[in-house]
Amino acid sequence: MNRNAQWYKLSYRWIVYLCTHSFTAFINMKQEDINQLNQTLAKANAEKILTKVAALFPGKIKFASSLGYEDQIITHFIAKKNLPIPIFTLDTGRLFPETYDLIDRTVARYKTNIEVYFPDYKQVEEMVNQKGINLFYHSVENRKLCCGVRKTEPLKRALSGLDAWITGLRREQAVTRTHMQAIEWDAMHGLIKVNPLINWTVGEVEQFIKKEGIPYNKLHDKGFPSIGCQPCTRAIEPGEDIRAGRWWWEQPEQKECGLHKS
Ligand code: SF4
Repeated sequence: MNRNAQWYKLSYRWIVYLCTHSFTAFINMKQEDINQLNQTLAKANAEKILTKVAALFPGKIKFASSLGYEDQIITHFIAKKNLPIPIFTLDTGRLFPETYDLIDRTVARYKTNIEVYFPDYKQVEEMVNQKGINLFYHSVENRKLCCGVRKTEPLKRALSGLDAWITGLRREQAVTRTHMQAIEWDAMHGLIKVNPLINWTVGEVEQFIKKEGIPYNKLHDKGFPSIGCQPCTRAIEPGEDIRAGRWWWEQPEQKECGLHKS
């Protein structure tokens, strides 16, 4: 090998080393780095945030859609800009028929794929046979067990190998979400969590859905602002908190399913 070829080989290795280590350093971001990124993106709209994170985490980021209003907006942006961000959802086995219908309509409208993750059938069988088919009504502990088996475990599988994930969380959705930022460190999953709609109000969400003709869950028109599993979600009355219909038998500060603990 001549001297030039040797030099190019060494330079190439050095560039690869620097790139790899810079990226690793980024992934091991400290809170100050996350704060800095939040400041940089403070004036960016959701579309820009998504474009930025798609470029920052190529092949290592996914969008977790629960098919609610907010998630449909994010799917719309990803499809519109053809961003390289795979979309997935969790089928707990207890969803509303309207939610399954929405998966079909969304795939048809955007000509995109939505990966579906299911719970481990052995864990579901064991839980149901030991605790009952509707165990979640009997105690918070049982409800958390069910969410763990049907949501948290499949989510962990869906997120494995990633550096970042995207959610449709908004700050005003719940008392447990008031402190959230657009970009956060998700200690529970060991990933960056991106919340592009964190500052949106419910009014902005509804207006945008209408303006763009985005497919949405028909239950939203029947008093369901937040839609999860069928046995754990009810319609709300005018004036009630938008999360009042989720696990309505529990206290507000208990109402997280384990996917978004801070
Ligand atoms: S929302 Fe209800 S049915 Fe769905 S996983 Fe949680 S406890 Fe189980």
